[in-house]
Amino acid sequence: MRALVVEDDARIASDLGTALQSAGFRVESCADGEEAWFLGDTEDYDLVVLDLGLPKLDGLTVLKRWRGNGREMPVLVLTARGAWTERVEGIDAGADDYLPKPFRMEELVSRSRALVRRSAGRGSAMQQAGDLVVDTNRMSVSLRGVPMSVTALEYRLLAYLMLHRDRIIAPGELLEHLYGDEDAREANALEAVVTRLRRKLGPGILGTRRGFGYYLEPSEPEG
Ligand code: CA
Repeated sequence: MRALVVEDDARIASDLGTALQSAGFRVESCADGEEAWFLGDTEDYDLVVLDLGLPKLDGLTVLKRWRGNGREMPVLVLTARGAWTERVEGIDAGADDYLPKPFRMEELVSRSRALVRRSAGRGSAMQQAGDLVVDTNRMSVSLRGVPMSVTALEYRLLAYLMLHRDRIIAPGELLEHLYGDEDAREANALEAVVTRLRRKLGPGILGTRRGFGYYLEPSEPEG
């Protein structure tokens, strides 16, 4: 899962980055509204955490521009304490959730996960496809009821396929959501992870449709 953190307070931004990373997100950060607007308009994120008080362009304007441009990623806004007008304005502008500052990181992480699940049309933290269960709260995977040991990268791959199991995921999309804008976006790297996972999972779990991409069995989704 790929997250964008927009926050000009360096310390909060760093804490947010750490918390979301340990929750399984690839985190990118920016500290002003103009860059945020550009990134959100051109990149594909699974979640955005958006502070409203930002230099250059305020968060509310950024959010309105994204929504006006048809950008539909889930956005959680951070508002000043007690500023109920900000919360109302944020939601009116298209925010999916909000948290007043100061907030507990645990709550932010839990709300973030819920937003990602809801935006994929999945309400529950426990997701199942055939014999495979992914618990997005505990970040754990089990197969036929037996817990599996997976790396962070393998977890992210399975969780992404699980949340989007109604379709086949192209390698490019998977790479982007696994690695973000890092340099490691090589098809070979992805194939290596898939091969390793297949060995762990055994046959009949992680499917490939040649020329299209990957999906979780048992059923092969439409194109
Ligand atoms: Ca701020």
